[in-house]
Amino acid sequence: MLLALMIMSGCHQDDNLVEDTQYLSCVEVEEIPSIETSSVVEEIEDVEEPEPVEKVTYRVTAYCACEKCCGKWALNRPLDENGEPIVYGAAGEVLTSGVSVASPLPFGTKVELDGYGTVVVQDRTAKWVVEKYGENIIDIYFDTHEEAWNWGCRYIEGVIVE
Ligand SMILES: [Zn+2]
Repeated sequence: MLLALMIMSGCHQDDNLVEDTQYLSCVEVEEIPSIETSSVVEEIEDVEEPEPVEKVTYRVTAYCACEKCCGKWALNRPLDENGEPIVYGAAGEVLTSGVSVASPLPFGTKVELDGYGTVVVQDRTAKWVVEKYGENIIDIYFDTHEEAWNWGCRYIEGVIVE
């Protein structure tokens, strides 16, 4: 008798729970999804559309660690185990030839340059260069002065990817 009562009351409670849940989910289905779906669609459109706009033509030059390219910064560089100078960028990281660049963009910014590849901002452009050529400038670091010299100055479209 006692057992039957417990089962009955248990069943009864379960029924209530199911009803409550159904009621809640009905309210959600009716009211929330219509609003959320439209805002999600808008967000996706917002993300996809600006991409071509972000494509910027950069003035891309090149430099190496020599005194001609870096002036006083070329002097007194720390030496590695083999006595070779270690070239740090302004971000405090060792520069990688053909990948590390100086730019007014924040450190760590990755820019994909059309027909070249992705470069990473790890060094700072001199103030007078920014004042003369504007913000859209990239200076690629190369291990040798010859490579930097051969690069010269090119105008390349690029997109910030990170
Ligand atoms: Zn140089």
